[in-house]
Amino acid sequence: MLTDTAATRAGGILTIDLPAIQANYRRLRQELGDVPCAAVLKADGYGLGDTVVGPALRKAGARTFFVALPDEGIRLRRALPDVPIFILGGLFKGAEEEYLHNDLLPVLNSLEEVERWAALARQKGNRLGAAIQTDSGMSRLGMPDSEILALHENQEILSSIELRLIMSHLACADEPAHLQNREQLQSFQRARRLFPEVPASLANSSGIFLGKDYHFELGRPGAALYGVNPTPAQASPMRPVVRLQAKVLQVRSIDAGRSVGYGAAFRAKTKSRIATLALGYADSFLRHLSDRGFAWYQGIRLPLAGRVSMDVAGLDITALPEGSLQPGDLVDILGPDQGVDELAAQAGTIGYEILTSLGRRYHRIYRSV
Ligand SMILES: *Cc1c(COP(=O)(O)O)cnc(C)c1O
Repeated sequence: MLTDTAATRAGGILTIDLPAIQANYRRLRQELGDVPCAAVLKADGYGLGDTVVGPALRKAGARTFFVALPDEGIRLRRALPDVPIFILGGLFKGAEEEYLHNDLLPVLNSLEEVERWAALARQKGNRLGAAIQTDSGMSRLGMPDSEILALHENQEILSSIELRLIMSHLACADEPAHLQNREQLQSFQRARRLFPEVPASLANSSGIFLGKDYHFELGRPGAALYGVNPTPAQASPMRPVVRLQAKVLQVRSIDAGRSVGYGAAFRAKTKSRIATLALGYADSFLRHLSDRGFAWYQGIRLPLAGRVSMDVAGLDITALPEGSLQPGDLVDILGPDQGVDELAAQAGTIGYEILTSLGRRYHRIYRSV
């Protein structure tokens, strides 16, 4: 029985295990050997709450942080007053003073951004810190070789900027045999040779498991910290971090032939028992899981029945002994039997999307010991 009154009012209960995140951080540190390890906290700490997860990771030893947006950096700065925070999205136009004001370091992704940051530095009469990103093959963010070369030759600009990091991002790190990993490594090595004094960083979660060549001077994991498997071809080296429980609202018995949910998309083949769960697509419980996702109760796997609707979803509990599940009871959507990667596979997506779409209506519990 639930005794926490907030939990009694919620449809879904999300428990986030901070010591598991810290253990995952230490596991990645171990993989990196002597190389320090940053933490990526973009998208509200991959949906888990950046201002809670950030300090937990700092306690575990993280000293460098990355987010995507200046807005995220400003929020995280309040929770972490004394660490470098890099903004992966670059130097947002019109927001330059906010970076200074909140002590945020842009990841400069183009020569234009470098020039804009250098101009601000000259105006302030100070050198300003920043990272530069090279495009080593992903064609997403970062400077192509021509811009890196031009930057290398522009002493005036370089005298205005304190280069804190040179970085790039891997497209295929979760596929160790993919040829592009080596190609991107070589491209990045060429770029970083031009700036030999500047610490370099290439590896995201999966990149850390590609071996020492990819480690440089800083690891940059996100997903693995939060329990996503960085080595999808093998068993996960990471600890699960989230548990999501859904509350049973009703249990009903239906005859063969009776339908469940919108569109009558599910029809019972035999006499069945259906539990109606208090979670739906408004919780970002993906509608794509309709008739293909599973929940778990006491070690038994139970299939969703019918379409996921806005606030509720049907679960076929015929496999359970009658009376074993009552209104108010909780079934596991994510938990010991089914992790983010498994639920993602059922929905045809990746663990990253499961985490970052965890609903705002869930009652959240942070486990801290
Ligand atoms: C998101 C991101 C990371 C972290 O990636 P994971 O796969 O979550 O470890 C690292 N670097 C950059 C540039 C990113 O955008």
